Amino acid sequence: MGYPRIGPRRELKRALESYWDGAITAEQLHDTGRELRKQTWLRLAQLGLTQLPSNTFSYYDQMLDTAILLDAIPDRYRKHHSLDAYFAMARGNDSVAPLPMTKWFDTNYHYLVPEIGPDTVFRLRADKPVSEFREARELGLITRPVLLGPLTFLLLSQAAPDSPDGFQPLDRLDDVLVTYAQLLARLDAEGVPWVQLDEPALVLDRTEAELDAAKRAYQRLANLGERPRLLLASYFGELGDALQAIAATGVEAVAVDLVRGTTDGLEALAGKTIVAGVVSGREVWRTDLGSARVTLEALRAMASEVVVSTSCSLLHVPYDVEVETELEPGLRERLAFAEQKVAEVVALATGTGDKFQTELPFWVPEKASPKAQRRSPYAVRAKAQAEYLKLPPLPVTTIGSFPQTDELRATRADAAAGRIDEQEYERRIELEVQRVIRLQEELGLDVLVHGEPERNDMVQYFAENLEGFATTRFGWVQSYGSRCTRPPIMHGDVKRTRPITVAWARYAQSLTGKPVKGMLTGPVTIVAWSFKRHDLPLAESVWQVAQALREEVTDLETAGIHIIQVDEPALREMTPLRERDQAEYLQWAVEAYRHATSGASDRTQIHTHLCYSDAAAAFAAIDALDADVTTIESARSHARVLAEPTAAAFSRGLGPGVYDIHSPRVPDVAEVVELLTYASKSVPAAQLWVNPDCGLKTRTYPQVQAALRNVVEAARLMRGKV
Ligand code: GLN
Ligand code: ZN
Repeated sequence: MGYPRIGPRRELKRALESYWDGAITAEQLHDTGRELRKQTWLRLAQLGLTQLPSNTFSYYDQMLDTAILLDAIPDRYRKHHSLDAYFAMARGNDSVAPLPMTKWFDTNYHYLVPEIGPDTVFRLRADKPVSEFREARELGLITRPVLLGPLTFLLLSQAAPDSPDGFQPLDRLDDVLVTYAQLLARLDAEGVPWVQLDEPALVLDRTEAELDAAKRAYQRLANLGERPRLLLASYFGELGDALQAIAATGVEAVAVDLVRGTTDGLEALAGKTIVAGVVSGREVWRTDLGSARVTLEALRAMASEVVVSTSCSLLHVPYDVEVETELEPGLRERLAFAEQKVAEVVALATGTGDKFQTELPFWVPEKASPKAQRRSPYAVRAKAQAEYLKLPPLPVTTIGSFPQTDELRATRADAAAGRIDEQEYERRIELEVQRVIRLQEELGLDVLVHGEPERNDMVQYFAENLEGFATTRFGWVQSYGSRCTRPPIMHGDVKRTRPITVAWARYAQSLTGKPVKGMLTGPVTIVAWSFKRHDLPLAESVWQVAQALREEVTDLETAGIHIIQVDEPALREMTPLRERDQAEYLQWAVEAYRHATSGASDRTQIHTHLCYSDAAAAFAAIDALDADVTTIESARSHARVLAEPTAAAFSRGLGPGVYDIHSPRVPDVAEVVELLTYASKSVPAAQLWVNPDCGLKTRTYPQVQAALRNVVEAARLMRGKV
């Protein structure tokens, strides 16, 4: 369905960042891209894959690529040259803010949200799918170009800012279809035999009208005279009601996710090719080939042809487990990354390979988990905290991390390689904490952080310090653009064997009279950004982590830390895609969060941080977390999230982000004042906090210094007004 594109050694990341820094030319960047695509196709062919995808490469994001393909480029980006326009949309520059970014379904991948208005003119710019197909053909390989389908593209886009009320991008379906039809004709003329149209949006709850639109769209594309054969790809769940709509159209093939879904009802696809996603693209455990074979056999009775595949693109797993020589062999042999998964697909299709039994007996908890202990009601806590912390109105704080400098990365690498001893490592981290505390004092922030210099990553750091997780060396997975994370692998019961964050928090607090905020990653996020166990219910894994964090919260308090932030940026992302499964998830997720935090006394202020701009839908859940202060991302969406009616009901501290940390751009004072003024219309002044959208680790010190200076200045101006 698709393959990782960042490069086995993150070659694309390095090339992109060098290009952005002006260290290499566009031509050199394109050379790297071409080489990575070539290596990928050759490797897939070598592994025995007979149907190779193309156009799965991207310099930033496939949604952005689709917007470019359709020429749906907002005017403000048009004055730039093509590659610069592309990166301006993705990252912004000194004169223009980027498009907003949000999470791709329930993954940790972020896509850019295109803007579609009633007047958007769609025009075909087919260069990318065509040139990738040609590149592969020059290697002697015929590929299947992968495109984002028209429904998913429009459903995930946002209405352009000046659109009339009630306008939805999906209103433009007919116009977009004209462009898709031209594209299909163009690919047909190139000799493309098959095209894959990705429609993951069809596995969500869809209205009758949307299902109708899907049916109409694919019927229309299928009726075209000149076109390649069409594979409609669904993934991340079952098609449900969309199955009938799709079955009624003339598309030749349908891909179904048989890891999350079953074969029930697939008889409806009789006469078509079923592309059977039996190898998980989301997990890293080896496939039980025996039961996959049973599924494939069942399908053969239903479809005209069965093709073996992964359940979704392999973008969401690392390249190769064989290079992880430091993993315990007993664990490593149970794991499969992208290469191993392709080998499994080939083994299933050719009937080779041993049955690999990975099904373990399902884990049963020994005793019912104790319910979270409640703190006093918010009003009581708020009073205790106000008396104790004595913060000014509109307190200014940050989300936790400060820039990860080259020296810091070198320090951690030196320590890991044994080039410096423990003492030298700690000395260097101490110096960094001193620098971060001094900077915040100089700038006049009210609640300080230690800057997280000892953490490579907010999840990996905890995984390395808890029992039950393994971490990899090269297991990078793209998060957005050039950014990657290395998700830890949960493989056993989680336990805290010693305090994790206490020493650095205590040290930071010893340097200042202002309160230092302790910094933890929440139980849902730690699990969400790890590869999960498959022998344990998800809720149980999360609860184990919550228990470990509860112990950490107690130790932080004892060490004199009176504000503790427990980040839950992934709360929303782990929400099941179908509504019928959501209530149950939210209940256990919220319960786990409260278990982690409710050991704190009333006067200890609990903060949480969530980063997504569509917090609107989640305000109820945020409220249920019962944190005293919640900071959210909102700068890129111009704080529009606060216009939601649900935001008004929010009764605790709220910090809408006023500085978009995903972009190198420094906001000026007026801009921050404007955002705060807007926010103060829906959030009472007594509850309003001032903070960036997220952690500052991806920014540089000059950017952060300038931006925070403006943020503090804006807060001071606002204090006079509200
Ligand atoms: N405390 C983390 C940081 O500042 C939060 C990061 C996040 O929400 N993604 O980096
Ligand atoms: Zn964040």
